[in-house]
Amino acid sequence: MIALKGAPVSAKIKEEIDAYRTRLSGPSPKLGIVRVGERPDDLSYERGALKRMEKLGLEAESFAFPENISHEEFEKEFLAINENPDIDGILLLRPLPRQIDEQRIIRLIDPEKDLDGISPANIAKVFSGDSTGFAPCTAEAVIEVLKAYDIPIAGKRAVIVGRSMVVGRPLSMLLLKENATVTICHTKTRDLPGVCREGEILIAAAGKARMLDNSFAGKDAVVVDVGINVDEDGNLCGDVDYDSLEGTAAMATPVPGGVGAVTTSVLAKHLVRAAANRRR
Ligand code: NAP
Repeated sequence: MIALKGAPVSAKIKEEIDAYRTRLSGPSPKLGIVRVGERPDDLSYERGALKRMEKLGLEAESFAFPENISHEEFEKEFLAINENPDIDGILLLRPLPRQIDEQRIIRLIDPEKDLDGISPANIAKVFSGDSTGFAPCTAEAVIEVLKAYDIPIAGKRAVIVGRSMVVGRPLSMLLLKENATVTICHTKTRDLPGVCREGEILIAAAGKARMLDNSFAGKDAVVVDVGINVDEDGNLCGDVDYDSLEGTAAMATPVPGGVGAVTTSVLAKHLVRAAANRRR
């Protein structure tokens, strides 16, 4: 089984970013990361994003707010970041605490700065197959992995486990745009292993540690594991039982070191594109 590692994919994206930047005038593109509270997931993603931007020579600033900030106060702060001319793109770490009306904040984000494709305008573009907007970075990272390894998508049967607005649904639209035939599975899907085995490309985005073993994988399937979970021993693992796929799947992404490693590269690519759009 071939391991589809994320590092070579990120290296390819870096080349694209470098080429793009040579055509970009003005100061280095700048990312604004907006975080409320100290959730370990958020802190880990923030660290990863800051490290990636630094590696690529891009600017980044974290805007952190206390867990108990009121909606009104947060909205005021968020609007200031949204309108700050020095910030080319925003990454809003979610979910926000309950006292904040997340949907209202999402509607306020400038679609031109919305690097993770959460605004209604960008979601509409993803669903209508318009690539001028920003798709959610993780969903796009899956497509980047498939393309970087020259895995054909057109005409293939793709099965996705998970229908969230962050991964499953937008990814289904990106795969459809690449002319795959897409099935989306969820907790009410009957005979999940049987449906998954039909996938020539199987994507796991369920958020359940090592849930998909080889009984879910078709012979010679390409398996992409989006899951990021912590197992009972405190180790990072995916939604796929990677070792069990040996002898069944043809290729699979490991966790860690697979899709997760590509997500922040896609974020950086979106940042450079956002900066270029704003300076036109
Ligand atoms: P989510 O919002 O919890 O959605 C999970 C989806 O999986 C839901 O649609 C759910 O179905 C489905 N599901 C859960 N258990 C299932 C089961 N036993 N059988 C069939 N379907 C099942 O999760 P998410 O935000 O999409 O994230 C998914 C995973 O990706 C998580 O592990 C997360 O940490 C990871 N993630 C990774 C990155 C990255 O950069 N690589 C970024 C974001 C998320 P229902 O709709 O029926 O409930």
